[in-house]
Amino acid sequence: MGETKHTGPIKLPKKPDPALWASKVPFGLGKIKPHHIRDTMKVVWENKDNLPYATRILTQGVCDGCALGVSGLYDQTLTGPHVCTTRLNVLRLNTMSAIEERVLNMDIEDLRKMSSTELRKLGRIPYPLIRKAGERKFSRISWNDALGKIAAKMRELDPKRYAFYTTSRGITNEVYYTVGKVARFLGTNNIDNASRICHSPSKTALNRSIGVGASTCNYKDWIGTDVLIFWGSVAANNQPVSTKYMYAAKRKGTKIIIINPYHEPAMDNYWVPSIAESALFGTKIADDVYQVNIGGDIAFMHGIMKHWFEMEEMEHGSAIDHDFVSQHANGLEELREKVTAYDWDQLVTSSGIQKHRMIELAELLAKSKSAVFVWSMGLTQHRFGTDNISQVANLALLRGFLGREHCGLMPIRGHSGVQGSGEMGADPFVLPGGGMEKGNRERVEKVWGFDIPEWQGDIVGVSLENAVLPEEHERKLDLYYLSGGNFLETMPDPDFVKQCLENIDIRVHQDIIFNTSTFADAREAVIVLPAMTRYEQPGGGTSTSTERMVYYSPEIKGPRIEEARMEWEIYVDLAKRVKPDQQHLIDFNTADEIRAEIAKAAPNYEGIQHLKNRGDVFQWGGAWLCEGGVCPTPDGKGNLITVELPELRKPEGHFYVTTRRGKQFNSMIYGEKDPFNDADRYDVLMNEADGTEIGIKEGDAIVVYNQHGTFHGRAKFVAVKRGNIEAHWPEGNMLIPKGVYEEFAGIPEYNAAAIVEKAETYFAQKDTKYVEKRVEELEVDIS
Ligand code: SF4
Repeated sequence: MGETKHTGPIKLPKKPDPALWASKVPFGLGKIKPHHIRDTMKVVWENKDNLPYATRILTQGVCDGCALGVSGLYDQTLTGPHVCTTRLNVLRLNTMSAIEERVLNMDIEDLRKMSSTELRKLGRIPYPLIRKAGERKFSRISWNDALGKIAAKMRELDPKRYAFYTTSRGITNEVYYTVGKVARFLGTNNIDNASRICHSPSKTALNRSIGVGASTCNYKDWIGTDVLIFWGSVAANNQPVSTKYMYAAKRKGTKIIIINPYHEPAMDNYWVPSIAESALFGTKIADDVYQVNIGGDIAFMHGIMKHWFEMEEMEHGSAIDHDFVSQHANGLEELREKVTAYDWDQLVTSSGIQKHRMIELAELLAKSKSAVFVWSMGLTQHRFGTDNISQVANLALLRGFLGREHCGLMPIRGHSGVQGSGEMGADPFVLPGGGMEKGNRERVEKVWGFDIPEWQGDIVGVSLENAVLPEEHERKLDLYYLSGGNFLETMPDPDFVKQCLENIDIRVHQDIIFNTSTFADAREAVIVLPAMTRYEQPGGGTSTSTERMVYYSPEIKGPRIEEARMEWEIYVDLAKRVKPDQQHLIDFNTADEIRAEIAKAAPNYEGIQHLKNRGDVFQWGGAWLCEGGVCPTPDGKGNLITVELPELRKPEGHFYVTTRRGKQFNSMIYGEKDPFNDADRYDVLMNEADGTEIGIKEGDAIVVYNQHGTFHGRAKFVAVKRGNIEAHWPEGNMLIPKGVYEEFAGIPEYNAAAIVEKAETYFAQKDTKYVEKRVEELEVDIS
């Protein structure tokens, strides 16, 4: 933790710099790029029935889009206004009125015909609903009866047989804290959150490498660092205002390096709408792009370190910051031994990056005095995600790029609530202020006044799988309480997920809108509870950004959904019903009371109790975690961790396949076309040379298949690394294996190997020989 405080936003230079322009043609006319003005007008039109309220949300609230973080229209990095089309797109979720009665009375089969995008547009869930087994329609139920029914079921179950899950969209720290506490109060550690499927490896890896699982630096550190690396992150698409910070960084001479299997156009050139010269002529973002194999990052990082160790043999101190390492890091010799044992051929084959290119980046970093490493799902969503991130931490530790200005490790988050969810304890491995280890557990027990169960709770994927365990198994899942989330569209293998959802006695969907998972059957009942948005909650709420800014978002005056309730209040109400004799132990009446308790239970959050007004914010941990290289580990040192090169098995004729995001906010799709490359949701991105080799032309109908599933799409030729293909998420999720989790953090594997064929070939030969002949081959998995 650091003493130095964040110094607040800075100004952008006024004079333009034509050297950074992406095009001399104004507004990038003729280029494939987002149309910010057109998109903004569309949002204005969508919100026309509630424009004053929409405006108040934008100017007073904390963004409920991604976790870049902004309060009203201003952030802590740059002085100008901060808004993007992602925020504008999710705005409608907050301003739309209730779903019409007619729709609520529809037959379940008709509701099931709608996509999540169509369901989202229906409006807000107006009041509690229930659909019992065998019923074809939802019917209205009172809050009292709904919570009474859930509580009665919980009383009858062993707490190991129920679980809680919370999504990250818009949910506040107060809600995460309360549900984490309520779960333990009820006797279960089966509580998990959406970060399990995005950044859980980041937290786990950073904890083991440097003792703290959060971004060590600020966005301001991007601006003026020597090298800014985006590793497996398309921040321009997923955290759009980050492009403004990239612009500011370029103006200070920062080199931006992109590492990704696909040469992402969004990270190449960007027309930043709020910067006049960039809006007109665009900005060149990437200085260099390294197209790594899907899953080849560990080999790439080994290559960088291997060259550093080779440089060191020639000249001591030419690559490694020995002062930093000797004072602040353990494990140098073990790491050297591990890394140098790999030969270059292995590293080149696994990474897909040529040796001279690995050396190039190694030397650039060796010559740099500062660097910031930013990463996202491209590194985390692997069965070796934690090792991926520990390797990034190794790079930073070896060069001393930690705990000082313009240096650091940043897992950039895509959901406004996701940073806080784990920190508040809505996680099976975590309690407020630390892990489940005895010391922290006893400390939190004192704050809470009751015992916390000691058994290990299950992660979300395992909880889901527990639904299909034999009845007599002690962890057979009988009740799943979900706050948001759409497992059918986020978890691998949707058919299996459906089977799990349907094999639960009672499923509770506490949400603001319907999604496709809401309509899966349950053995006894599906109960739907209407939640308030963060802007509707009396007493407001807080959310924590990627850079650890804890922002206060006030209650904002506007229309209300009559029966929607504050989420933390619902959990407290439920808990009191399950254990009425102990209700005094879980008695929150205001958001202020929760914040006051968070400050005690999670010491890093000291200061949260003072957040009361619009614009209030503080940063936990100071400007730089591990300031001066001192890590919050038992010996104060970071750990250089050796990791194995993963075995990437790609049988002959297969491609590595991964998923990517298009015009969407997490699983919410806002456009059928990706504005950066014009790809349709069912386009499969592949390299033209690969296509030609197997007789596929651009636009051909193709089938991608493996032992997990079959995806029907069209070939789209783009600059993706040869031998690798990308399908959209969630459309391509059927290609991803179920039940494969990363060892340390439990994130599901989101990659596989698959065969690509022209649809006509696949269908012509399928029945006679093809598929059967390949059954054996299909059993081979890279995972
Ligand atoms: S970049 Fe993220 S935090 Fe900023 S306005 Fe857009 S969605 Fe909100």
